Amino acid sequence: MDNKEVRVRIAPSPSGNLHIGTARTALFNYLFAKKNNGKYVLRIEDTDLDRSSQAYIQNIYDSLKALGLNWDEGPDVGGPYGPYQQSERFDIYPKYAQKLIDAGYAYECFCTQEELDAEKQESIKNKKPHVYSGRCRHLSEEEKAKLRAEGRKPSIRFHVPESGETKFTDMVKGDLKFDNSLIGDFVIMKSNGTPTYNFAVVIDDMEMKISHIIRGEDHISNTAKQILIYEALGAEIPQFGHLGMILAPDRSKLSKRHGATAVSEFVEKGYLTEALLNFVALLGWSPSDGHEIKSLDEIIADFRINEVSSSNSIFEYDKLNWMNGQYIKKMDIKKLANLARPFLSMYDLSEMSEENYERMIEVTREPITILSDLVNDVKYFFGQDAEIEPDVQTKILDSEDGQKVLRYVVDNELDKWDFEDSEKLHEQLADLRAYFKEQGIKPKETMWAIRAAVTGRTHGADMVAILQILGKERSVRRIKAATK
Ligand code: GLU
Repeated sequence: MDNKEVRVRIAPSPSGNLHIGTARTALFNYLFAKKNNGKYVLRIEDTDLDRSSQAYIQNIYDSLKALGLNWDEGPDVGGPYGPYQQSERFDIYPKYAQKLIDAGYAYECFCTQEELDAEKQESIKNKKPHVYSGRCRHLSEEEKAKLRAEGRKPSIRFHVPESGETKFTDMVKGDLKFDNSLIGDFVIMKSNGTPTYNFAVVIDDMEMKISHIIRGEDHISNTAKQILIYEALGAEIPQFGHLGMILAPDRSKLSKRHGATAVSEFVEKGYLTEALLNFVALLGWSPSDGHEIKSLDEIIADFRINEVSSSNSIFEYDKLNWMNGQYIKKMDIKKLANLARPFLSMYDLSEMSEENYERMIEVTREPITILSDLVNDVKYFFGQDAEIEPDVQTKILDSEDGQKVLRYVVDNELDKWDFEDSEKLHEQLADLRAYFKEQGIKPKETMWAIRAAVTGRTHGADMVAILQILGKERSVRRIKAATK
């Protein structure tokens, strides 16, 4: 690489919430910038005003920030090459279009949609790949004036060379080439005066001095068109790197029917942004030491764009769930407790001290994969009474041994249990197990009886923690209620 400053960009179109695939593209650009001491730019591509909305722009900001992919330049933070939102750049594009017309690289096209459709039908009929015929290429001034007089508004087309190839070396995919005769003259300015994606993107990347363009491979064929525009403008061509697509487990395009697709949807379901970021990094990149759980800093240290896989990646929801569980297990408990709060709005958290709330999260976090799993797993910590599962009632609470344990606890133990001292309460439960073991009741069955009475379930958090969080009054109440 030469000494030129590395400048990359993420250029989402705000026609939806930030897609997880765009988050992956943003991450790879961010990593590339960090590795090369470069700048990472956010540009909002909202030339399609009908499909763009302020709410989606806000969602893009919020999602990228939540992932920790903060930009150096962008619409909100500014920078030397702004504005960074295409709708504020509309006066820039026509100048360049005119420059291309003047130099003979572009021309006004007066074809109506009906005429273009008819051309296309003709190609389909003749089983030929469709490219625009180029019939407006050489219109005389008189012909143009006549068409204008008919009320036709021209678009502007780029004149693609009829022969030769457009070649480039992709940072991910290697050498690529496109046959110019199959590209066809394409529109750069629509008849309503707005630029097309292929034109606006080149002008902006050029003006913003973008040195490397890393994006999804769905843009590969656009790249040939964009290179032709750079050449016509005599501008330096950036380097391109195209990432393989992200496919659903059934190998079709990842879509809503497979599950969440927007970053904010994942977050609403209870995925942690750290886990999401780590997971998307692995869609195309593999850590050199084989350890997949990596922080952003560790990923930056290990990332190399030329090692990114050129093939498609499969979005394995199961793997994401596993990874999210790993992050939930090791996350700072205060942070986790705060993140969990909005998921538990159906419970009266004010019933509980802050200390008990954190402890409840601490003792229930182990088996969960997403934060919304907590809704069920913390249920028995709330309310006066336990909700007893039917099976638990018949198999445990109605059993002779179960009742024997509970009766004994009510008559001899409850007054003695020390709810304030967890070590002591542990010992007291251990003594109880030993006592019943001598009478032929297995230790785990002794505990089941107590757990069933207090929580209504056979599985859950550590029993001492549950008793302490519920407190003496509620624990006693529940044990007595289950005793016949
Ligand atoms: N706005 C385009 C998109 O969202 C950007 C493509 C590019 O990176 O050039 O697909």
